[in-house]
Amino acid sequence: MSIKLFNTLSRKKEAFRPIRKGAVGMYTCGPTVYQYAHIGNMRAYVMADVLKRTLKYAGVKVNHVINITDVGHLTSDADEGEDKMEAEARREQKSAQDIAQFYTTAFFDDLKILNIITKGIKFPRASKHIKEQIRLIKILEKKGFAYQTSDGIYFDTSKFKNYGKLARLNLKGLREGARIGIHVEKKNVSDFALWKFSPKESVRQQEWKSPWGVGFPGWHIECSAMSMKYLGKHFDIHTSGIDHIPVHHTNEIAQSESVTGKKFVNYWIHNEFVSMEGEKMAKSLGNIFTLADLGKKGVSPATYRYWLLTAHYRSPIAFSLEAVHGAGVALLRIISTIAGAPGGGRPVKRIMKKFTEYISNDLDTPRAVALIWEVLKDEKISPQDKRATIFEFDNVLGLDMKGLVKNTKKIARVIVPENIEQLLREREDARNKKDWATADKLRGAIHALGYEIKDTNKGPEVVKIFS
Ligand code: AMP
Ligand code: ZN
Repeated sequence: MSIKLFNTLSRKKEAFRPIRKGAVGMYTCGPTVYQYAHIGNMRAYVMADVLKRTLKYAGVKVNHVINITDVGHLTSDADEGEDKMEAEARREQKSAQDIAQFYTTAFFDDLKILNIITKGIKFPRASKHIKEQIRLIKILEKKGFAYQTSDGIYFDTSKFKNYGKLARLNLKGLREGARIGIHVEKKNVSDFALWKFSPKESVRQQEWKSPWGVGFPGWHIECSAMSMKYLGKHFDIHTSGIDHIPVHHTNEIAQSESVTGKKFVNYWIHNEFVSMEGEKMAKSLGNIFTLADLGKKGVSPATYRYWLLTAHYRSPIAFSLEAVHGAGVALLRIISTIAGAPGGGRPVKRIMKKFTEYISNDLDTPRAVALIWEVLKDEKISPQDKRATIFEFDNVLGLDMKGLVKNTKKIARVIVPENIEQLLREREDARNKKDWATADKLRGAIHALGYEIKDTNKGPEVVKIFS
């Protein structure tokens, strides 16, 4: 099975060729652990998981690293503003370490409930790799790529020939652009901090000594330091959402290649956004849902994962509760059909051929999901072979179909007990008679039993309240 992947560097689908025999190196930019990850963030990790499962399915072993950013990510992705960790620590009146620990654990839980394979992943923390980051900055300084300002050490982007190649930045436009609001001591607008000095007027919780003064590392240098430490100076795959193309990854490439004089990464893979009401889902915009929020609306993690897979990772996907509810109904139909089939079947070869063709074509999960439905409809395939074939798909799709078959309740929501259905019918009767007082009372009774009524244009829907 040969795999084609869309490489942001070339803006083309390319045949995937590993650097070495044996394991492929893959680095995924991890979360800044100052809050719960939202479901948009989780798309990046589901995408990386599907990529890893695809490689595994093709017989390729993967060394996967996801970093944990627990220092240095400032409130603006550039070099201004407060450290997100320090700001949250102050808000919650806890130590930055406690904040990091709490949200790192929450992140691991999210990975687990989305059935992302975590076994074998390395999760290095930025605050535990200060020495490695200082080492890289020292090399950059020695090679003439770094300069000092009053607030830190900066990378001189004009010294790196290929700066901005990944994002196809118009440097001339950028450099001639207005400098309003730009750090006055920066030599170029695109220059970025490698090390920042602790502010004189306030005390930071996380700070370290360095050859240049007490302070903390810039956000970009951590990924260069940790990826190269665990995967080598030149490795195969780097992933994350598209927002990291113009700044974070552009800067990672500049630093890393300036240190080593070699190509840093062969394949840059980026997922599109989950949006909501036309805007990117983002903590800063406040339009976010977490997996726990979805649970409260009766949407299980399996449903969310299934919904993500119905779109290609390079297409934007617009989140709405209606859309994920629809995905839940579809997944429940698939699982109930398989659950009703006997075991002992075999994956159908001609179908598996199609499946590998789709999935190896830049992870075409929408076609793979559509193929599930083709299999279910195909009268030439026996029920047990249907079951076996779809279970085989699940090695790559990762919906934990075997677990769901054993416990369809995991798909949640649509499973409403009879007593709730009964109350719902009574409420509908009351509403039809315009007896609003009784209708409201029944809504209260349903709520007290842990279910919420949503009146939609298709009639009332009941969802379980998870808390
Ligand atoms: P952050 O914690 O902001 O660094 O984000 C973690 C990961 O989520 C990164 O790979 C981002 O590119 C990705 N990401 C952020 N917002 C979204 C979104 N709305 N949809 C998809 N991916 C996103
Ligand atoms: Zn990163």
